[in-house]
Amino acid sequence: MFESLQAMPADAILGLIAEFQEDQRPDKVDLGVGVYRNTAGETPVLNSVKKAEQAILETQASKAYLGTAGNPDFNAAMQAMMFAGTAPDERLVTIQTPGGSGSLRVAAGILLRARDNTTVWVSEPTWANHVPLLGGAGLELKPYPYYDTEKHVLRTDAMLDALREVPRGDVVLFHACCHNPSGLDPSQQDWRAITDVILERGLLPFVDMAYQGFAEGLEEDAYSIRYMAERVPEMIVSSSCSKNFGLYRDRVGTVTFLAADVQAAQVLASQASNYVRTLYSMPPDHGGAVVSAILNDAALREEWHKELDEMRDRLQGMRALLNEALAAKAPEHDFSHLVRANGMFCFLGITAEQVSKLKQDYGIYMVDSSRINVAGITADNVDYLAESIAAVL
Ligand code: PLP
Repeated sequence: MFESLQAMPADAILGLIAEFQEDQRPDKVDLGVGVYRNTAGETPVLNSVKKAEQAILETQASKAYLGTAGNPDFNAAMQAMMFAGTAPDERLVTIQTPGGSGSLRVAAGILLRARDNTTVWVSEPTWANHVPLLGGAGLELKPYPYYDTEKHVLRTDAMLDALREVPRGDVVLFHACCHNPSGLDPSQQDWRAITDVILERGLLPFVDMAYQGFAEGLEEDAYSIRYMAERVPEMIVSSSCSKNFGLYRDRVGTVTFLAADVQAAQVLASQASNYVRTLYSMPPDHGGAVVSAILNDAALREEWHKELDEMRDRLQGMRALLNEALAAKAPEHDFSHLVRANGMFCFLGITAEQVSKLKQDYGIYMVDSSRINVAGITADNVDYLAESIAAVL
């Protein structure tokens, strides 16, 4: 049976992690991996999560099946956090999914059921996994311009012009905030212009919200979703609790469909339930139970907000610190885009050869595109980083 199969090429990020772990140099720095890290270089369990888990341990009465849509209290709390009442509840269908990845995959399945030959337009560049998750499900993907790799700015006009040419009815995928990999997000004014084009062209917006609270704040980061939800007839929103709740391995997120009317919402709910049944039957319980316990308890919610604020402040602080250190060590180069970016990621803006030299000569690891995770920066390693980067420029 299996003799026809060929080994797959190694995953670039997983390969980088393995190389980093084998590296014996004491001052090595990992800027590749996609998780938040604190000043001690750890990805800790949040205190609010620990407390919610403790409460669940004490009160959980059953491990019976959860159902295809997951935990209804979790779904309602997530929906409120993203949409804040901007679309009528009866037109919204939110289900719990195994992470943001599971959410994207369920959305892809429903899009394929809804229409043959659906094309999804994705930003150039986009999160590397969008391609296998959506493309691998059978959707056709096409790029729209997004990031200027020379000037390190958004190509807003080119993006809007390209979207004006997208065939009516196609799907356009956006990152709600903390665009991965560039870190550069549309302004509120840009989102309004994007929404105008969506309405003009009759496009279906599909918003991926993997970092709510990591850019400016929980409310600010939901601007695109809320603005669109008040205006468009239909949309899809994927969310992930991996980063903002630090629940990476518990695999929890949601997919939300905004339907044109109540009847369409009921059909979408039954389609989503049926599709999930054919894919993984039901989502795992734990992550959703934790998030629900936090969002539905005033004290835990407040503690979580503080922890989220701390993570966001640290990321912004490290961007500023690296930019300052680079301005001192490599004054002839401009790295100010580091501080214009949001969230964990941005491009350093160096060549693949320079990336490779940083790894070989200095034990500094990042993916070939020079996308860095700023959570890998600390006050202790920032000077070493800036000196090493300056040395390979
Ligand atoms: N979408 C984007 C843009 C991401 O960066 C990520 C994670 O890195 C995800 C979705 C999905 O995350 P997860 O499946 O771990 O919840």
